[in-house]
Amino acid sequence: MTDVLVVGAGLAGLRAAQLLTRRGLEVTVLDAADRPGGRMATDVVDGFRCDRGFQVLNTSYPALRTATDLAALDLRAFEPGAAIRGGDGALHRFANPVRRPSQAFATAVDGLFGVADKARLVAWTARVLATPPSRTAGIVDRSAAQDLAAAGLDGPVVERFLRPFLSGVLGESALATSAAFVRLVWRSFALGTVAVPADGMGALPARLAAGLPDGVLRLGRRVTTVRPGVVHTADGEHTARAVLVATDPVAAGTLLPGLDVAPMHALTTYYHVTDTPPAELPLLHLDGTGGPVANTVVLTRAAPGYSPDDRALVSSTVLGDPLPEPQVRRELARVYGRPVEGWELLHTAPVRAALPAFRPGHPVRRDVALGDGLFVAGDHRDTPSTQGALVSGRRAAQAVLEHLGVRRPI
Ligand SMILES: Cc1cc2nc3c(=O)[nH]c(=O)nc-3n(C[C@H](O)[C@H](O)[C@H](O)COP(=O)(O)OP(=O)(O)OC[C@H]3O[C@@H](n4cnc5c(N)ncnc54)[C@H](O)[C@@H]3O)c2cc1C
Repeated sequence: MTDVLVVGAGLAGLRAAQLLTRRGLEVTVLDAADRPGGRMATDVVDGFRCDRGFQVLNTSYPALRTATDLAALDLRAFEPGAAIRGGDGALHRFANPVRRPSQAFATAVDGLFGVADKARLVAWTARVLATPPSRTAGIVDRSAAQDLAAAGLDGPVVERFLRPFLSGVLGESALATSAAFVRLVWRSFALGTVAVPADGMGALPARLAAGLPDGVLRLGRRVTTVRPGVVHTADGEHTARAVLVATDPVAAGTLLPGLDVAPMHALTTYYHVTDTPPAELPLLHLDGTGGPVANTVVLTRAAPGYSPDDRALVSSTVLGDPLPEPQVRRELARVYGRPVEGWELLHTAPVRAALPAFRPGHPVRRDVALGDGLFVAGDHRDTPSTQGALVSGRRAAQAVLEHLGVRRPI
């Protein structure tokens, strides 16, 4: 018998365990995998660091800053903004004017879409930034596509810029995702720095796990059933005063029948190695012509340590399941405007269950207390993001403390 059993050592479970152990509770975290981190992982392939799908940390995520010491992650930043291959064949550079005011004029006169559209985009962004996130979460109940249209944003600004940019973040290109979430994402991109840890994304969960007391984290333990106060693994029964299911949404739906879990979006990331990097800057490249590559970036321009030597590592992501690699390569040649025949395909990372769909009408904060000492956490209880997973872990930890009669708030 322990105080709290946490099932799942992804960001949500690790954050909950961090807070509960700090309050002096006896906690056991059981995870089916052989390492902590869940969907946030880095594989080393021939000495290159390949994150399990292209993902980034945003320094403006409040929950990230409170969960860990960002300086210890040695973050390597990307350029704020994007380069977009237009239908005219030109590469259009868009700098984030909040973060790169010196490039605001060049962005303003760029011809990818019209001046009136730019003014409407600035006005919408200003509204998003002026609204506190807590109010944003409550006020918008429509899809991102409807929200943009209501702001007069449709046509080229959406097709050439917003849809390509957002689809890689949301895992879907119809912009059917809740406008509340998209506004929160847009806000975080406007205000924050987008970066990866020097050693790969897996460094974040590794750091959270390393901060837990010895013996708390038990790997290679797949939980097969969950009931109030009891979970089963292959090695037997474990009992606790509270049980927190912090798995991915698919497993949560199995372990907790009746739980409302969203369908998952798939993403596939290709890692190519080349001696001749196709871009000088660590700048996200997008396809403004509706092609299948959601985004591509020379990762080693931001984080040279992702390569064991001087060769560059290029990360390119498509929505959904893998496409034939030669097709992706042809698209990359077009997006970068450079020959890519010499590139070596190092690794492909298909992630079938990458991001839970976040449909309009879903509350940004969903219940984490299920009754009878059962709790649930994970990005499917908040927003499908690092921020959402960490917040869900904190909320669940708070609910567990209240259930156990520990009065001090987190
Ligand atoms: C390709 C990709 C790109 C992304 N890009 C971004 C991004 O750029 N920015 C951003 O903010 N977010 C991004 N995300 C989202 C972010 O990574 C997730 O929201 C977050 O990692 C989810 O954490 P979690 O703890 O909720 O779940 P998970 O990471 O899924 O952790 C669940 C854990 O439960 C364990 N588990 C499952 N079943 C069992 C069982 N039966 N018994 C025991 N253990 C079990 C799993 O092994 C896993 O460790 C991306 C995700 C992916 C996959």
